[in-house]
Amino acid sequence: MELACLDLEGVLIPEIWIKFAEKTGIDALKATTRDIPDYDELMTMRLQELARHRLGLNEIQAVIAGLQPLEGAKDFIDWLRERFQVVILSDTFYEFAGPLMRQLGYPTLLCHRLTVDSSGEVTDYTIRQANPKRQAIVAFKSLYYRTIAAGDSYNDTTMLAEADAGILFRAPQNVIDEFPQYPAVNTYEELQAQFIAASSRNLEP
Ligand SMILES: [Mg+2]
Repeated sequence: MELACLDLEGVLIPEIWIKFAEKTGIDALKATTRDIPDYDELMTMRLQELARHRLGLNEIQAVIAGLQPLEGAKDFIDWLRERFQVVILSDTFYEFAGPLMRQLGYPTLLCHRLTVDSSGEVTDYTIRQANPKRQAIVAFKSLYYRTIAAGDSYNDTTMLAEADAGILFRAPQNVIDEFPQYPAVNTYEELQAQFIAASSRNLEP
């Protein structure tokens, strides 16, 4: 059997921190792994900014409650789940993802957790494991699953490398240029075609 492993933000839903930065006007929170590759450094800065502006989980969840999956994402994931077992491998947090997962029909999601105190302040975060996306693929391979992975950014590239097939979706040009070994597509129709092409089975479009 084959597993389809998808990144979440930028592939199925908007970048949550960027949306939150736009709503609050805190420019520092627009930084992503594209700007600060060290995830711990990035998260430490984010938590400091939240504390400085006295914003907690409730304020972030209020913004997330108004977000929707990217246009066409629900139809795409429904299509994919009819043909593959789908697992979402994300660097977001369960505390953020809930409302958007509901709109996507609650696909399986492996991601991280936040530590929140009784006042709602985000005091810390817990990474599921080191190099989580790649390690998930390693684990699935140990279960003898064939894996096809798609993502949009640097934090996906070790997952794409470990998978049997990797696909870039709506990646920035610098990532496309740096990783020319992966097909790079921009629409869900093209992404479906890439999954069909990468499958070892004869799938109907
Ligand atoms: Mg992403």
